[in-house]
Amino acid sequence: MSTSIETVEIAVIGAGLGGAAAAALLSQAGFDVHSFEQAPAFSRIGAGIHLGPNVMKIFRKIGLEKRLEEIGAHPDFWFSRDGNTGEYFSRIQLGDYARREYGASYVTIHRGDMHAEQIAALDKDRVHFAHRLVGIEERDRDVLLTFDNGRRIAATLVVGADGINSMIREMLLGPEKPRFSGWVGHRAILNMDKLRASGLEFETCVKWWWEASRHIMAYATKGNGQEYYYVTGVPVDGWEHDASFVDSSREEMEAIFGGSHPVVQALIDATETVTKWPFWNRDPLNLWSRGRLVMLGDACHPMRPHMAQGACMAIEDAAILTRCLEESGVAGYTDAFSVYEATRRERATKVQTISNANTWLKQPEDPAWVYAYDAWTAPLG
Ligand code: FAD
Repeated sequence: MSTSIETVEIAVIGAGLGGAAAAALLSQAGFDVHSFEQAPAFSRIGAGIHLGPNVMKIFRKIGLEKRLEEIGAHPDFWFSRDGNTGEYFSRIQLGDYARREYGASYVTIHRGDMHAEQIAALDKDRVHFAHRLVGIEERDRDVLLTFDNGRRIAATLVVGADGINSMIREMLLGPEKPRFSGWVGHRAILNMDKLRASGLEFETCVKWWWEASRHIMAYATKGNGQEYYYVTGVPVDGWEHDASFVDSSREEMEAIFGGSHPVVQALIDATETVTKWPFWNRDPLNLWSRGRLVMLGDACHPMRPHMAQGACMAIEDAAILTRCLEESGVAGYTDAFSVYEATRRERATKVQTISNANTWLKQPEDPAWVYAYDAWTAPLG
């Protein structure tokens, strides 16, 4: 690999859910954008994700709304139910109601399927896999980025979309490990045929609750009805593993949730492979950008996933950052970054706080402030 220095206008570090959205939107806006991702490639890891109408409006602009609607499932409600008795605590309307009232669909989907569509929508010559950022040097006219393969890039602006362990965050605020939240999530993809054999009904989107806010969020991840997914939330004493997740088992699920409502028991019985993930956290950061460096998504507001809005916030960030840079141009980045932070901080912090509290939609409430939000018309600043 050459040691000469190449130049780009905007370098996006990380091609995760937020970074891929930022690269798509900034490119569409006419900027010269390159993405640098440490992973050699992305695989379809076993996990689902909710896409609220707030983020489907952003995918409309990227050109992926229809495709994600085709692949994903369309819940008519978000139900909250008692994990033992099955009693309904809330029935939050989605489906046609969401399309009418919030301006787009509410979709649940496999995270890998969504991410693959996002990556495919980018110019492949501008997405550089197997590029782990290892060095950042802020200079007068640009930022010199060094990657683990020896490549060096001088970028006029750098967007840190590099997730919870962000190197850009570390550059701005110093090294600090995220805090273990005290909660883990078990994640499993289930075969719908196996579930149906139980003769029970599996709602498209339902959260089962037990005492101390333990829960199982269960939903369909495909529009063709072939795949169902659950993610739990369980408090634990600590997390002693170095790995980002470890294997769990049907027996562990049975030990935690056994003896619950028959539908929950059927989820446990149909479990073949299940993994266990720690939920990490940070307090809201007091700095989102400095000089030519700016962050979005989990790099600056990681949260426990209980509102199903972490990626949605990262993608909203990407949309607002794009609008701010479109208004100011690259040369006006100082203004753009300050308007971006002023626009995003309050909303992202509110979502982070409610998500961490794990109260969202357990009781009847109006979710319009989240779902009706339109990043293209929201006032800036
Ligand atoms: P990430 O998606 O983490 O992407 C960061 C990228 O940066 C990665 O690809 C990483 O490899 C790369 N990277 C890191 N360091 C470097 C480096 N030095 N050099 C180059 N590349 C680097 N959100 C929702 O909206 N809806 C949901 O339903 C939902 N469910 C969730 C369920 C669980 C169990 C969890 C844990 C999270 C959930 N989330 C959900 C949250 C969501 O996954 C995150 O908020 C989202 O992935 C953040 O996007 P991001 O782009 O900021 O970071």
